[in-house]
Amino acid sequence: MTTLSDDRALVLFSGGQDSTTCLAWALGRFAEVETLGFDYGQRHRVELDLRPGIRAGLDGIPVGPGRLGPDHLLSLPVLGAISETALTRDVEIGIGENGLPTTFVPGRNLVFLSLAAALAYRRGCRHIVLGVCETDYSGYPDCRDDTVKAMQVALNLGLEARFVLHTPLMWRDKAETFALAEALGGPALIELVLEQTQTCYLGDRSVRHAWGYGCGQCPACELRAEGWRKWQFEKSADLPELR
Ligand code: ZN
Repeated sequence: MTTLSDDRALVLFSGGQDSTTCLAWALGRFAEVETLGFDYGQRHRVELDLRPGIRAGLDGIPVGPGRLGPDHLLSLPVLGAISETALTRDVEIGIGENGLPTTFVPGRNLVFLSLAAALAYRRGCRHIVLGVCETDYSGYPDCRDDTVKAMQVALNLGLEARFVLHTPLMWRDKAETFALAEALGGPALIELVLEQTQTCYLGDRSVRHAWGYGCGQCPACELRAEGWRKWQFEKSADLPELR
């Protein structure tokens, strides 16, 4: 069995709100944290350009004892080549005939996790962190808790290893993800999320809303905007469960 360090984590880091929050979460828990991104021909490719700035910004926010290690970017054009989806082609964003969102890229997270584990194996990282969420994205079968748990079992068997897959956002909605970011890094991390992260499926950064940049129309923008409004409302209402 390969030697994996309990102190080392690899975070799947796309440059979006969720993975940025996961990166902050990991820096609070693990001594050495590396990041991994994928270029698969996504329409919102702008998120990849934002990754270095987010990493630099996080370095200046005291989110924990962890040290930010190397960034890895893997090119996966084959995933875009075999996918007929709204994230990789000029296809309308909506619900497809199969009942799944047309933004669903078949096999994406399964491929991502397989490659993440291969990289973590080489880098000696026992912990793999990803920002999937069953609460908001119930339409994506590869974001489900059972899928991730099954992948952990498959990877540990297939690589003769003992990885631990962490999904800190699995049961949090977007409002709770904003709350988590504030708890981890205070107003500075919220500001970083708003200014630097990208969620919009169309990669639109032409308009800055209260909740950040985006077209304001696509499902990802709507979800983020709704989460922001809910979080703001809960803060103003001073609800005790968010303390
Ligand atoms: Zn959008």
